[in-house]
Amino acid sequence: MIVLNCLKNKCIGVLGFGQTGRAIVDSLISGGAKVFLHDDIGIKNADYMQYSANLSDENIVRSLDAIAISPGIHLFWPTPHATVSIARKYGIELIGDLDLFQRQNTEKIIAITGTNGKSTTTALIEHILKNSGKNSTIGGNFGSPILSLDNGHDFYVLELSSYQLEHANILGLDTSILLNITPDHLTRHGGMEGYISAKQKIFVNSKNSIIGVDDDHCIKIYHFLKDITQENIIPISGKLVPDNGIGWKNDYLIDNRFGTNEIVCEKHPNLDGNHNRQNIAASYAACILNGVQKSDFKKHLLSFSCLEHRQEFVANIDGIPYINDSKATNADSVEQALIRFDNIFWILGGRPKEGGIFSLQKYFHKIKHAFLIGEAAEDWYTLLKSHNVKAEITETLENAVNHAHAKAKNEKPNVVLLSPACASFDQFKSFEERGEKFKEFVRKLR
Ligand code: ADP
Repeated sequence: MIVLNCLKNKCIGVLGFGQTGRAIVDSLISGGAKVFLHDDIGIKNADYMQYSANLSDENIVRSLDAIAISPGIHLFWPTPHATVSIARKYGIELIGDLDLFQRQNTEKIIAITGTNGKSTTTALIEHILKNSGKNSTIGGNFGSPILSLDNGHDFYVLELSSYQLEHANILGLDTSILLNITPDHLTRHGGMEGYISAKQKIFVNSKNSIIGVDDDHCIKIYHFLKDITQENIIPISGKLVPDNGIGWKNDYLIDNRFGTNEIVCEKHPNLDGNHNRQNIAASYAACILNGVQKSDFKKHLLSFSCLEHRQEFVANIDGIPYINDSKATNADSVEQALIRFDNIFWILGGRPKEGGIFSLQKYFHKIKHAFLIGEAAEDWYTLLKSHNVKAEITETLENAVNHAHAKAKNEKPNVVLLSPACASFDQFKSFEERGEKFKEFVRKLR
């Protein structure tokens, strides 16, 4: 745990008591701060009840030195949290967990953001650093909250969400990576512009900036960074070799930072597709900039296996692979799976997001049969049928797996793919639970 000595004896409000809020409280208490903890649904954990305070009360809020906010707290859209409005009225500082970490620590941060690929890239970088003998740890939006990490590592590899970046003020990170931007979380950021500015913030005063140039939003940001003559910007791509950047040509990762088109390594057998090539190019840039030898990168890339729930191979049943892509909660990440496979039995649905699967129409010819679950089922059934895609509403994931299996015997798809394009919350606690259930149902088929 990071001990926040820097706020010793200060009166600090903590807004939100989820995983991050709890880590903030623990770090503040161990550093000797006086904590005033508030969550809109109350504090039910007996160990923390003693810190409970009502931060809707103006008199309490105005007496605080600062308020630490969890990533889920809305600063602006759709409306600011009530406590945020009171804090602004009295000029009380609002601090996110990344800023709290940076007030206490000066070790190197390698930070990763983007709409998709954050967790894979974060895990890959940390895997390569660690195996190359570097003293590194991993956290943030992936795994443990930032403040629950231990002190004393040389490298902190942190996945950052747009929410955390919106709350960040200090920045000046050592190595910042922005992989890609497609529409997501628009309500929270007041639209696309707000979402892009939150993501772009990762580069403020960054010492090394690594940016994917495979989408128009990121290309614009890249040119902006060059125009303001930010130094050490490396463009990376999963599709081509950018000028003075790192990318791919004929299945080879190419380092063209100095215009020399040096071959680094061949494609990874399991971590492939343009999206994963983008993740690998970004990871290579970050590792090389932080002292990893090219030969070590090559060696340890090969020992990295893909993360659970991201195009994860589950089992081969009657000669047909079952793939768990439960983490694909938006159309853009599903697109990567639809690019990769053909002749697909597609299990999809759940709680739909803005835009739904509209943008995936160009891949509908690859769908042999769709099995629809959850709240999106009826609307998407109608959409798929209108494109002459064979589809059925199976309602639950278990039904979907069983129906797919029964049909697979005769129709021989190339793959049975769970890639839902939806949030899981209508039927599951999380995308992890949805993926675990999928694996359980598939294993039962044996
Ligand atoms: P995140 O942490 O940003 O949600 P993950 O690494 O967990 O990203 O991957 C989430 C989903 O996005 C998976 O379905 C995965 O196949 C897909 N994906 C991974 N990397 C990328 C990328 N660079 N671009 C687009 N999609 C990606």
